[in-house]
Amino acid sequence: MKPTRTQVGIVGAGPAGLVLSHLLHREGIESIVLESKSRQYCEERIRAGVLEWGTVDLLNQMGVGERMKREGLVHYGIELRFAGRGHRIDFKDLTGRAITVYGQHEVIKDLIQARLADQGQIVFEAEDVRVQAFDTPRPKIQYALSGNVQEIHCDFIAGCDGFHGVCRPSIPSGILTAYERIYPFGWLGILAEAAPSSEELIYAYHERGFALHSMRSPKITRLYLQCGPEEDLANWPDAKIWSELQRRLAGGKEWKLNEGPILQKGVTGMRSFVVEPMQYGRMFLAGDAAHIVPPTGAKGLNLAVADVRVLARGLKEFYFSGSTALLDRYSEICLRRVWRVQRFSWWMTSLLHRHEGNPFDDRRQLAELDYLTSSRAASQSLAENYVGLPLD
Ligand SMILES: Cc1cc2nc3c(=O)[nH]c(=O)nc-3n(C[C@H](O)[C@H](O)[C@H](O)COP(=O)(O)OP(=O)(O)OC[C@H]3O[C@@H](n4cnc5c(N)ncnc54)[C@H](O)[C@@H]3O)c2cc1C
Repeated sequence: MKPTRTQVGIVGAGPAGLVLSHLLHREGIESIVLESKSRQYCEERIRAGVLEWGTVDLLNQMGVGERMKREGLVHYGIELRFAGRGHRIDFKDLTGRAITVYGQHEVIKDLIQARLADQGQIVFEAEDVRVQAFDTPRPKIQYALSGNVQEIHCDFIAGCDGFHGVCRPSIPSGILTAYERIYPFGWLGILAEAAPSSEELIYAYHERGFALHSMRSPKITRLYLQCGPEEDLANWPDAKIWSELQRRLAGGKEWKLNEGPILQKGVTGMRSFVVEPMQYGRMFLAGDAAHIVPPTGAKGLNLAVADVRVLARGLKEFYFSGSTALLDRYSEICLRRVWRVQRFSWWMTSLLHRHEGNPFDDRRQLAELDYLTSSRAASQSLAENYVGLPLD
């Protein structure tokens, strides 16, 4: 077996791995992306959908934003709904910015197409990926393709393989410190063939639990209900899901929640998780491989993109000047944003979900929502975090 040589070996073809590969290519730096799933699986995996303005800007600058500009839905606000009434948070007025609703799988399709059009190498269905020798100047990645063992020799490894990937667990014990919070609830999410019932996202705080009205296109609605962390979907026939959504999202006589065939449903547990540092030797962790946020603040994908933007700058500096100054500070630079985003995601989650057992919390949360929607300073703080803090 003759090893293949590249400059940066990237594990994972999610948003982090593909954006990194594309950014490096634009600087003339070679990479190979190894992905355990098939191209079709990656392109159909339904996940995030809210893009911060900085993510949108970056995708446009990278030349992969054409379809997003045509098909993405630009939103200048969100609605907070509680005590049966809606309150709009006006992003344009409060920050001058907007968010774009464009499915993560669409971003993935655009990125894969762009990489392949540029003769970029993505190895799909790579089995048994192993990262090796990343504490030396000559890291290696071993994998199997249709049963044949292959090896890549590279200068650096980017661990962009998500929370359940192999890169983080390959770092020797004692190096990383993990910080974690697991929430006592989850989200039951559905994708429905129904026109969105509102032009903007609705975050509802209700005595029966949190609900979210979101969308993927003018014909497809994405809806979520707070549920148990390991809720059994068998207990949730379609009619029950709709009836619960109707109750939690109720918003006055004029508002109606559109229903339609449910195309997909699933339960997601909620956790906050960070490892420090995000690098060891010549391996750098990016995106969900290094941190997870609960989805309430819509930050996971955006944070993954912010990480690799820093990593690409560091690698560019190394290849152009031989300096590792930026690479050495990769964790420090990323973690500052990671923790600010963790704080925001935790705060949105705590504010909007029902916490079992203490009526004090219910009154306190309603008071906080009242303050948030009546104080410009408080609304502005929410808006500036939601549209996305400036990229470092
Ligand atoms: C069900 C679900 C719903 C979500 N909803 C939202 C949302 O509404 N809003 C939001 O902001 N975020 C959401 N997220 C989070 C968001 O999708 C992630 O933060 C984002 O995908 C992170 O990108 P990433 O590239 O770091 O990781 P990933 O997207 O997880 O990509 C990692 C890639 O590595 C591959 N891989 C894993 N192990 C290996 C291996 N051993 N070898 C090779 N390849 C491997 C995986 O197949 C995957 O393609 C959701 C996540 C999930 C799971």
